[in-house]
Amino acid sequence: MSKSKEALLIIDYTYDFIDDHGALTCGKAGQDCEDTIIKLANEFVVNDNYVILPTDCHKLNDPFHPESKLFPPHNIEGTSGRDFYGKLKIWYEENSTKNNVWAMPKTRYSSFVGTNLDLDLRMRGVETVHLVGTCTDICVLQTAIYAYNLGYKIVVHQDGVAGTSPENHQFALANMKNNLGATII
Ligand code: ZN
Repeated sequence: MSKSKEALLIIDYTYDFIDDHGALTCGKAGQDCEDTIIKLANEFVVNDNYVILPTDCHKLNDPFHPESKLFPPHNIEGTSGRDFYGKLKIWYEENSTKNNVWAMPKTRYSSFVGTNLDLDLRMRGVETVHLVGTCTDICVLQTAIYAYNLGYKIVVHQDGVAGTSPENHQFALANMKNNLGATII
């Protein structure tokens, strides 16, 4: 029997969510995740595991999208706001041709909603998802909830996730640990 695989999900680590001038930024808390994310990404590639980058892809002022009423426009298709931030942009350019690395558009908070992520993970024998990126209390939390309901083991790297505030970040980490059985490391 082959050894079960693991996947690192780098969620929404883009200019709009991380840069000081991004449209919906976590600011410094997000920027501080950069080195942890790159270190983990390199480890996952070397160990023949998977690195997947689920990234918001929105249409400008889409009247049918619920986020249009909740947030300023962000991660709009075809704009540099969707570019990966900082070192991750370079990392992805250098690694995107590997068949265990790919970016994946999503339109909802959870990386599993309206995407092939669950199928892609199951076909590859992935049983554990590792979560980094933003925001701890929105897309990371909602991805963790769906992963829990689909039967995945969850690991959250606390130095690799940033929230909308320190309080919301801590709430989400505790929620994932206590209610979803996530390992927080
Ligand atoms: Zn969004």
